[in-house]
Amino acid sequence: MWGSTRRPAKPKMMTATISPETAERAVAIRREIHRHPELGFEEHNTQAIVERELDALGIEHRRIAATGVVGIVRGALPGHATGLRADMDALPITEDSGEDCASEIPGKMHACGHDSHTAMLLGAARVLQESRETFHGTAVLLFQPAEEGPGGAQPMIDEGALDDPRVEAVTMLHIDPRLETGSIGITPGPVNAAADEFHLTIRGKGGHGAYPHKAIDVIPCAAATILALQNIAARETDPLASIVVTIGTIEGGYRNNVIADRVKMTGTLRTHDPAIRDAAEGKLRRIVDGVAAAYGAHAQLDMIFGYPPVVNDADLSEAFASYAREHGFVVERPAPTMGGEDFAYFAQRVPGVMVRLGIYNEAVGSIHSGHSPQFRLDEGAIPTGIETLVAFARGVGDGSVAIPSR
Ligand SMILES: [Zn+2]
Ligand SMILES: [Zn+2]
Repeated sequence: MWGSTRRPAKPKMMTATISPETAERAVAIRREIHRHPELGFEEHNTQAIVERELDALGIEHRRIAATGVVGIVRGALPGHATGLRADMDALPITEDSGEDCASEIPGKMHACGHDSHTAMLLGAARVLQESRETFHGTAVLLFQPAEEGPGGAQPMIDEGALDDPRVEAVTMLHIDPRLETGSIGITPGPVNAAADEFHLTIRGKGGHGAYPHKAIDVIPCAAATILALQNIAARETDPLASIVVTIGTIEGGYRNNVIADRVKMTGTLRTHDPAIRDAAEGKLRRIVDGVAAAYGAHAQLDMIFGYPPVVNDADLSEAFASYAREHGFVVERPAPTMGGEDFAYFAQRVPGVMVRLGIYNEAVGSIHSGHSPQFRLDEGAIPTGIETLVAFARGVGDGSVAIPSR
C-alpha cells in the first residue's frame, strides 16, 4: 500500500558494489514479473519464478501461505538470523505507464513496486548465497503474497515463517518516489498507519418530500454526522499526533420529492499511535449515535480493523542507519505516511525496520506515486535495494548492528 508523495530536495547517488550480472538478472526478473502481475493469493506464476530462481542458486525453500515462499541462506559462519521480506502481489489497475515491460494483463498492474521488491530480494539471495563462506548467520527470505489485501504476513507468521530458524530481526524495502534514486530512507518509530475501515448506516422514516414533519429525514442527519466527525481530527486529537477520518462513499435516497429513510456511508480511519487508534472507535460511535439521536434517527456502525501501524524499532533503525552510512549509503529520514503495510505484523513479532528505497528520477519518468496507472519505476534503484538487504543480513548477522532486546 502507499502513502503520499512529494518532490525530493536534491539528487543523491550511491556507487553500486554488486556485480553487473546480479543487477542485470534482478532487472530481468523484475520485468518478467511486471509483465504478468498477479493479485493477492493468486501469485502462482510469481511463486514459480521465485522457486525457479532459488533452485538455480541452490537455496533451500518451501511454500507457505498458499502462494508465498520462504527461502533460507545459511552462512558458513555463526551469527544471527535475519528476515528479509518482499511482497509479490499487484493491484487491480490497468497500466498506463508506457513502459516497455508494461503489464500484459488488462486490469492488473504492479503499481506499487512489489515486482521490484521480489526481484531485489532474489538479487540479495544471490549475493548472500555466493558469499556464504564469509557470511555470519542466516538469512530467511520471506516472499509474501497479498500485501495489498487481504494480507499475507499474518498467515506466513501463523505457518511458522519466523520460527525455524528463529528470526531475530526483520527488514523490508518499499520503493518511494519521495526519495531520489540512489538513496534509502530509515525513520525510527511509527512510519505507516493503521488502516481501519468503517461502514455506517443511518435509518429514519421515509415519506413525502412535501411533508417532512411526518417523516424522519436521514439526509440532514447524514450531513450533520459528516461534519461532526471532522471534530475527531480537528478538536479531539492532539494536533501534534496524527489521525485521518475520511468518508469515502455516501449513498441514499430515491428521488427529489421523497424523504430518504436510509443513508449508507463508508470510510477509512488512519492512525499511527495505538492509543489514538484504540480511542477512535469510541469517538466515532459517540458522535454517530449522538447525532442520530438528535435527529430522531438510528445509526449502525460496523468497524473492520485492518493492518496495525508499522513501528520501526527505534534502536535497530538507528543502528542500521549508522551502519549503512558507514558503508557508503545515502540515508535519508523521510516523514512517516498514512499508508498501510502488513509488514507491521512481522515488526510486531521481532524488531523490524522498514526501509524506503528512493526511485525518484525525472529522466526515466519515475515521478508518479504508487497506485497510479502512470507509475514507473527507475530500475537504477535496484542495485541500491539489493545492497540494502545484503547489508542488513550481514550487519545484523555478524553483530555489527545490535539486535535490541525486547
Ligand atoms: Zn501498495
Ligand atoms: Zn506496496
